[in-house]
Amino acid sequence: MPEDCIFCRIVAGEISCSKVYQNDQILAFLDINPVSQGHCLVMPKQHFNRFDQCPAELAAELARHMGKIARAVVSAVEAEGYNILNNNGRCSGQLVEHLHFHIIPRRTGDGVFDRWPAGEYPAGFMEKLALKIKNLIKSS
Ligand code: AMP
Ligand code: ZN
Repeated sequence: MPEDCIFCRIVAGEISCSKVYQNDQILAFLDINPVSQGHCLVMPKQHFNRFDQCPAELAAELARHMGKIARAVVSAVEAEGYNILNNNGRCSGQLVEHLHFHIIPRRTGDGVFDRWPAGEYPAGFMEKLALKIKNLIKSS
């Protein structure tokens, strides 16, 4: 376990958290600085920095439990919906380098996020980019 990882220290019981679910592989707890009430984090107990480093079986285990955790959180705070958010890399907003998913309860007009700045591709670029990605996936 990386010595300086705060989430590994939570898993090890060295730092307390407000746990909402755990099994032998995953842990879910309330975010200490919530974007909205009920904001929680779901993560593997084992340390991985980014989602693409997490073995598929463990990602599946996270997915298996994410829905019921989200449903319970939304129900507990009587929200209307939720975002599931996963930051990968500092550039994306990742502050804690231990893979985790945010579940953020949402209500109409809560102002938490608005639409992101959606752009456009120059003519012909989209098809070329899709092909490049497709080939990289095939060769990985
Ligand atoms: P991210 O920016 O995606 O890396 O999110 C990290 C999240 O971890 C932030 O929303 C923090 O509020 C949350 N966080 C940091 N330390 C703790 C802690 N000790 N207990 C609960 N949540 C934490
Ligand atoms: Zn860690």
